[in-house]
Amino acid sequence: MAIKKVQPYVNSKNNGLLYLVGTPIGNLKDISLRAKEILAKADIIFAEDTRNTANLLHSLNITYKKLVSCFSYKEESVANTYLEEIKNKNLLACFVSDAGNPGISDPGSLLLTKALSLDINVSTILGPSAFLQALIMSGFDTADFTFYGFLPTKKQAKIAFLEKLINKKETMLFYEAPHRLLETLEAFQEVFPKTKRLVLARELTKLYEEYTYMNIGDIEDFKSSLIKGEYVIVLEGNQIEESNDDKYLECANKLIKGGYSISEVSKILSTIYPIKKNYLYKLLTDKK
Ligand code: SAM
Repeated sequence: MAIKKVQPYVNSKNNGLLYLVGTPIGNLKDISLRAKEILAKADIIFAEDTRNTANLLHSLNITYKKLVSCFSYKEESVANTYLEEIKNKNLLACFVSDAGNPGISDPGSLLLTKALSLDINVSTILGPSAFLQALIMSGFDTADFTFYGFLPTKKQAKIAFLEKLINKKETMLFYEAPHRLLETLEAFQEVFPKTKRLVLARELTKLYEEYTYMNIGDIEDFKSSLIKGEYVIVLEGNQIEESNDDKYLECANKLIKGGYSISEVSKILSTIYPIKKNYLYKLLTDKK
């Protein structure tokens, strides 16, 4: 594939410009100044749900020129119908999904790819994404994470999918529809150990925003909660070092009971296992 560079602002006088515009996930004040400005200027706005977007534009006091329905099954035909015109007439176009950022468990990517293939300028104006807020608030590793979007809906397929994640070290994030949350949490119970931590982030940016910090073992108690609103599930990655630490400690304690000193045990085990003598010594003295 030939290299393609896009400088949407330098080149904006030719070939039209398509923005993927992020919108609030609950709190209208999260719309950015740039998003407002571009939506107000746009010659054409493609919307996943025109009623929803018309309401948003109305509450932002934006009088739009043209609003076109573009839900996921329509993305291709919308691209075929409108992109040439956007290019030839050098129009300013926006795509807006129902909530949050386009392309994040939402349509938008296909339109972007088609626009790119026609040399239309493309850019995005970011809005909030539920998974990013949930990740930050989880307190889990934010440098190494995977966003999976929605899990398979059928029980067996969901369990098979989750089983592949048991040894993943990175933080994992999932979107889930409220009516499927319980069933999904039950699948988590089936697959993951009780000590694994997870966070349920609910109704982000809204009045009843809520974070539930728990272990897989707490799911049984959680099931009696009223499940309402939108959720992101954040699952902590496998903490290998910790579980190995437990294994070393168990072994060390047996030796200590047998009469060895902490120092001797640290030395012996560091020759058998991939663990530093000083690290094990500290673990043992800290636990005393
Ligand atoms: N494009 C959106 C984004 O950037 O986050 C995601 C849209 S996806 C169709 C909808 C899912 O996102 C919901 O089922 C829920 O899992 C999550 N979600 C969206 N808004 C949320 C909110 N305010 N609080 C918690 N989760 C939310």
